[in-house]
Amino acid sequence: MSFKESILKSTELGYFEGQVPVKYQYTLGIAGDRFFTTVMEKGDFIASECSECGTKTIYPLIYCEECFSPVEKFVSVGLEGELYSFTGCYSDFQGNRYSEAHLIGMIRFKGVKGGIIHRLKIEKGHLAMGLKVKAVLKPRKERIGGVDDILHFEMA
Ligand SMILES: [Zn+2]
Repeated sequence: MSFKESILKSTELGYFEGQVPVKYQYTLGIAGDRFFTTVMEKGDFIASECSECGTKTIYPLIYCEECFSPVEKFVSVGLEGELYSFTGCYSDFQGNRYSEAHLIGMIRFKGVKGGIIHRLKIEKGHLAMGLKVKAVLKPRKERIGGVDDILHFEMA
């Protein structure tokens, strides 16, 4: 059957079993590279700050999503934020089950649009929206300028 043919009866439906291995790379872009270079070299988080409307965004952008102005200013927001949302993941991308849930949260920073989604190292009983959290980074010499330079977020 080609893409131009259509199935008129459900008895004509068929399927193939198998797996499609999907691998990908996601480029950081100019502002993302600056963010992770700052994490690696200075152990700090930065947001972009629009000089036209003042919107701060994390992960940083080179164009403001609010007024479409080019952004050239980046400001420190520190490593402490607030837990905005959280969930538990029970398997990896390949469907392999974890022995226990991996906790993932979205962390937002005061006065900043967007946030960081990352692992949480917090007991389930303490999880709550609005919880003050801080990032735990790898030791400086082990950082490579990627998302895993951030080990996890824990209670502040
Ligand atoms: Zn703006």
